[in-house]
Amino acid sequence: MALLHRRPNPPRHSSYQRYKAYLREDFAYTCVYCGIHENEAGGPRYFSVEHYRPKSRFPALTTSYPNLLYACGVCNSYKGDDWPSDDPLTDGEGYLDPCEHDFDQHFEPGRDFRVAGKTTVADYMIRRMHLNRSMMRKIRRNRQEEAELHQQFVALVERNLNLLSAALGNAALLPQQQSELQQELDTLQAQLQRRTAAWNERWEPMFSMDDYR
Ligand SMILES: [Zn+2]
Repeated sequence: MALLHRRPNPPRHSSYQRYKAYLREDFAYTCVYCGIHENEAGGPRYFSVEHYRPKSRFPALTTSYPNLLYACGVCNSYKGDDWPSDDPLTDGEGYLDPCEHDFDQHFEPGRDFRVAGKTTVADYMIRRMHLNRSMMRKIRRNRQEEAELHQQFVALVERNLNLLSAALGNAALLPQQQSELQQELDTLQAQLQRRTAAWNERWEPMFSMDDYR
């Protein structure tokens, strides 16, 4: 993923938990580290307000919005208080901030639905946060399979729509046959529309913060 952005001026709150509603919007309802989406994880209750610089070591940054990220509970707990370096690029260990570092420069797709490090610090993050844990590999595989299935469905329906249109152009058709073909074509077109709408909305958040207050 390319460089991410937080909103510049959120309202000020004395509790960092209050920022969760803004963070989930700013980071597209997705864990900034492993990439799991709220809809795959069960909603915002499985996500945490992540302190890029751990609050135990940097208490002054506990409610500083530029230090906050949106992360799933698993990545958040694996990272914990670990903070080996203030300069991870030079030291080759530590954590990259997705708002400061373009993760595409550090991570790439690997074999068998793993993510692979292009840099030493990326390898450190993969190791410490278990970014190739079996659940994430399954999720990456499911995403790919679902995308392939969707593409195959669309291609199949479009082929059939073309065949039906061509058949409807046959002047020798009886009115009864014509109406049956037209009905079939309308049904297929409606199915394609419904399926495409559902596909385009698959990353719309299914959960609201109110579900968990
Ligand atoms: Zn995560």
